[in-house]
Amino acid sequence: MAAGGTQTISLRLLAVGIACSVLPDVDVIGFRAGIPYGAVLGHRGFTHSFVFAILVAALVCASSSSFRASRGTVFLFILVCIGSHGLLDALTTGGLGVAFFSPFSNHRYFLPWRVIEVSPIGIAPFFSRWGLRVLLSELQWVWAPSFVIGFVGCLIHRGERFA
Ligand SMILES: [Zn+2]
Repeated sequence: MAAGGTQTISLRLLAVGIACSVLPDVDVIGFRAGIPYGAVLGHRGFTHSFVFAILVAALVCASSSSFRASRGTVFLFILVCIGSHGLLDALTTGGLGVAFFSPFSNHRYFLPWRVIEVSPIGIAPFFSRWGLRVLLSELQWVWAPSFVIGFVGCLIHRGERFA
């Protein structure tokens, strides 16, 4: 999202956006507490839904006016940060799908292309070879494209400034 340049997205908003992009996974706390994976508040349940994304985006938007951006930009930016989390989870190879339409429907969805190795829940298994495969897979499908988009965005932004 830094592709928009610091004029549109301040560092402060960027930091909040990054925090928001991992926020849906707070549901692993419930998972540890014994809430079943497939429950409304289970992993990839309500916190991965569009309603949750809209609620958090509205909250962030209402809670601070110090982002040096219009409310519309803040709302959209946070919405994309949180929404992309659910979409990326729906691209993974394991677990249950994502409850995009929770709390209205607890149906779990996957996107037609499931290319990202699912992350093991917890730290210990993550350091196994599985963890390594996940990292390589994420590197290829998430970080590489993000880097390219960010880089191209910077170039365009620079071009505008010197035009
Ligand atoms: Zn998730």
